[in-house]
Amino acid sequence: VTRTATPVPGGVVTLADGRTVQLWANVSGRAEAEAARRTGAFGIGLLRTEMLFLDRRDPPGEEEQVAALAAILVPFAGRPVVVRTLDAGGDKPIPYMGLAPEANPYLGLRGLRLSLAREPLFRTQLRAVLRAGHGHDLRLLLPMVTDPDEVAAARAVLEEAHRSLEGIPHLWPVPVGIMVEVPAAALLIERFVPVADFFSIGTNDLTQYVLAAERGHPALGRFADATHPAVLDLVRRVARAGRPASVCGEAAGDPDAACALVGQGIERLSMGATAIPRVAEALRRL
Ligand code: PEP
Ligand code: MG
Repeated sequence: VTRTATPVPGGVVTLADGRTVQLWANVSGRAEAEAARRTGAFGIGLLRTEMLFLDRRDPPGEEEQVAALAAILVPFAGRPVVVRTLDAGGDKPIPYMGLAPEANPYLGLRGLRLSLAREPLFRTQLRAVLRAGHGHDLRLLLPMVTDPDEVAAARAVLEEAHRSLEGIPHLWPVPVGIMVEVPAAALLIERFVPVADFFSIGTNDLTQYVLAAERGHPALGRFADATHPAVLDLVRRVARAGRPASVCGEAAGDPDAACALVGQGIERLSMGATAIPRVAEALRRL
């Protein structure tokens, strides 16, 4: 039977027990943002900014980043949008970042670690995000966080970016959340409650680190499973930690895995836009 992908009104599904689950979209460009809006996504739960930095010889300047982000925000005006700062390194190498060769790039200088090691570049991105976010419900998400002091360091650069924008219209204050994708962060999630406004669980990376199996490894497909009890146990901890918690890894867009995540207490799922109608259907039947 072919079903027409009907939009999900308000991006919210009500479960049989009365709980509600918000369905958000993962987006990395304007066309995806428009497609996501058509499916009725609650908001953008993960705006990946890597696309702005890939396939070029040097990083995009501030004006270019402001224009690109502003274009993506148009279809979601008035809706919440979570913008993730550059998540380079690991599976997303960017040659001009000047990274020394690493034996284990997934365990290397990646995500926020790299941004903090390239502070001028990070500050430029933060200025661009704050400027593009003016008048929008935008939130900032930090990838690959291990310890709370990294969040404090990122907040210091963010404060600096804000101060340097005096007289230029920009969003302030801005909520700051963390990707929970390093086991240490998930295990000791309560240490992040004082420094983070929200949590977004990256099950793609969390699963590879918990199960010690490289994501996308052709011979280790059986370990690419976010419903492994060891992963779900961490998801439950994060869901109960006392901050809004979403899942934005691929598992959120898989109807069975999505049901398992909701079973751990997750009430926000962010996925590729095309998955929204079928996840909604699975949750309604749950
Ligand atoms: C994740 O790790 O689950 C995630 C959403 O981020 P990315 O796939 O971009 O690493
Ligand atoms: Mg990740």
